[in-house]
Amino acid sequence: MAEKALIRIEGVTKRFGQFAAVDDVTLDIAEGEFFALLGPSGCGKTTLLRMIAGLEVPSEGRILIDGEDMAGVPPNRRPVNMVFQSYAVFPHMSVADNVAYGLRMEGVPKAERADRVAEALALVKLDGLEARRPDQLSGGQRQRVALARALVKRPRVLLLDEPLSALDAKLREQMRFELAQIQDEVGVTFVMVTHDQDEALALATRCAVMNRGLLQQVATPDDLYEYPASRFVADFIGSVNLFEGELAVDEPGHAMVTCPTLAAPIYVDHGVTGGTGTTVWAAIRPEKIEMLHRPEGGLPPTVAGVPAGSNVVAGIIRHIAYLGSETVYEVDAEGGARVKVLRPNVARYEERGFDWDEPVWLAWHPRSPAVLLS
Ligand code: ATP
Repeated sequence: MAEKALIRIEGVTKRFGQFAAVDDVTLDIAEGEFFALLGPSGCGKTTLLRMIAGLEVPSEGRILIDGEDMAGVPPNRRPVNMVFQSYAVFPHMSVADNVAYGLRMEGVPKAERADRVAEALALVKLDGLEARRPDQLSGGQRQRVALARALVKRPRVLLLDEPLSALDAKLREQMRFELAQIQDEVGVTFVMVTHDQDEALALATRCAVMNRGLLQQVATPDDLYEYPASRFVADFIGSVNLFEGELAVDEPGHAMVTCPTLAAPIYVDHGVTGGTGTTVWAAIRPEKIEMLHRPEGGLPPTVAGVPAGSNVVAGIIRHIAYLGSETVYEVDAEGGARVKVLRPNVARYEERGFDWDEPVWLAWHPRSPAVLLS
């Protein structure tokens, strides 16, 4: 990472009794990033966030913010502010008083307070609603009050714990854009915890994926999706077909994966690290599999750049799920694997659709699969 690390997490472990909720995590977060901690329930992401905030103390390792070791520094003395999942706001106070509260506690003079509150409310588009009480606001507006309350204190880092999870699906999507816009505007480093991979991919400049306390991978959203480092990440981020098989290395980086459940081998022309004989998983995204009609007696399509007979397999469509913008097909491939194929529903008049129980060919480019060692 080129930029300077604003937050440095060095070998941090958090134990509750014998149980390691966070297990030897090391990572850097740069100034100005929108960073997501992503993982299934119980993976330790909230515990890590709480350690950055100073609400939990690491059992081992250290956390530095702006080069300063945070050991022994209480939450209110750290250059961070946290927005909680329940976005606690004071029900008896007006919007403006809610936002001004922290500044009043700090003894910020009244005139400056008013300016900063107005600025924060404009930022979250709540200007005009200063006098309302929280029970006179929608869920999305209450969420913005909580954001304004945190931002008005001008923290170096804003920590967000599942900030959108209490909102309904439509509002969540809208708030995603707004949150990204706000972050862009204020330039404050955001660290967000979420179990929602769509949210993390849509918002974050980089994500850390965690599982059972362990850091699995840190990457940009597109690298996580295109180049997952493990089966766990491939499966957790989006939808994927995973085929277990044995590797035969051809030339450096190129290999054939022979899978017991697939009649044709999978040829891969990039990023292969294991040696011949290694057990691996080939991961192929459903939208990266081509599907073609298979008339009786017809020849298989040829795939450019692969040895004959690889990367194309016969199959029969067993299930069709129409999802509006796309359709997901489940295909029984020769060899026994059930393969998921996704196709966008564009220009339907141009081609004949696919039917239940229809014979098809499945084919994929040698660039499409990722070969995973674990
Ligand atoms: P969720 O999305 O469900 O909030 P999470 O990934 O944020 O999950 P954490 O809240 O960090 O997970 O918890 C990680 C693990 O540590 C869980 O198994 C949890 O039960 C455990 N844990 C968290 N806090 C404590 C505590 N104070 N005492 C004992 N165990 C705890």
